[in-house]
Amino acid sequence: DKQYLMMPGPTPVPPSVYAAMSRPVGGHRTDEFARMHKRIVEKLKRVFQTQNDIFVITNSGTGALETAIANTVSARDKVLALITGNFGERFANIARAYGAELIEVNFGYGKDVDLSVVEEKLRQNPDVKVVLATQNETSTGVCNDIAGIGALVARTPALLLVDGVSGVGAIEIKVDEWGIDMLCTASQKAFMLPPGLAMVSVSDKAWGVVNNNKAPRFYFSIPAFKKVLDKWNTAYTPNVTLFYGLEAALEMMEAEGLDNVYTRHALLARATRAAVKALGLRLLAEERYASNALTAVWGPEGIAADDLRKIIKNKYGVIFAGGQGEVKGKIIRIAHMGFADKMDVIIAVSALEMALAEAGYPVQLGAGIAAAQEVFLGRV
Ligand code: PMP
Repeated sequence: DKQYLMMPGPTPVPPSVYAAMSRPVGGHRTDEFARMHKRIVEKLKRVFQTQNDIFVITNSGTGALETAIANTVSARDKVLALITGNFGERFANIARAYGAELIEVNFGYGKDVDLSVVEEKLRQNPDVKVVLATQNETSTGVCNDIAGIGALVARTPALLLVDGVSGVGAIEIKVDEWGIDMLCTASQKAFMLPPGLAMVSVSDKAWGVVNNNKAPRFYFSIPAFKKVLDKWNTAYTPNVTLFYGLEAALEMMEAEGLDNVYTRHALLARATRAAVKALGLRLLAEERYASNALTAVWGPEGIAADDLRKIIKNKYGVIFAGGQGEVKGKIIRIAHMGFADKMDVIIAVSALEMALAEAGYPVQLGAGIAAAQEVFLGRV
């Protein structure tokens, strides 16, 4: 059966990226690999908007987050965790596993980070060593103001670690300008690749801490990565095949133009929100901070969101994600990130409309599609 992968990771992989990955696997201690590694990092620097080193490591997104923590947090360090959902909670939990003394600020599912609270917490706790933030909270479809958080953290000695796993490549981010000390992301979302690669950048402000951190680390040791980076080597055997894919994906993004990539994501998000509202459904996130990478929608009154998803998957082959954490079973998450375009939104909305009708929700078929079409036609 034909399937339409519309969950926030893994996301669909373009044919050219699959083609690049069909190459026979090559050696990683070769000049060819080193040259490719260098080209990839140069391209990534343009996506991250940074001059900092970027390490491409063989890991899932959580591995990138743990890499950032293992290299900056020592036992009993004060860590300020800005939490807007499940992945913010995970970032905090990793710091806890490394013995951090946590100050957790939970803004609630569907809310964004309130900068005045961040300012106050930093003022009350001048000994905070590390601040954790999520660019795009995948569990709620909330996009946080990383520029605003960065400006506040930059005035303090603390480092800002950002989880950009589901945002980078879909939503613009400026590592250097915004003062992000470590940006973590992964391959299987906006980078249009299968899971398995993670990327982490390290600022000048972070290096001093990274080189002297007391936490135990081996596979996650950034100093070990750095030792071989000048030869464009990797510390351990990398997923060479995914590197081929990553170069192809970055070439695609550059051919489209990064600005156009971000504009496309914004357009798809706007159309999706318009469609959902036209169907009388409620969005989890307020529109002013709603994510351009995915849209989270409350299930309608009296109909279980997961039942709706089951119909959508079994009858129409469309795969959305459900809720996590506090909103488990209550929401549907529709991704429009990476290798996604206008007609993907039409498919998603069409499947949603039919499933709503089947579940007994009073839906006017086509109302959501029309709303999305109006956005695509530039009429609204
Ligand atoms: N952070 C965010 C924001 C994510 O969306 C995800 C994956 N859904 C992760 C972290 C964890 O990544 P992974 O599942 O690749 O370990």
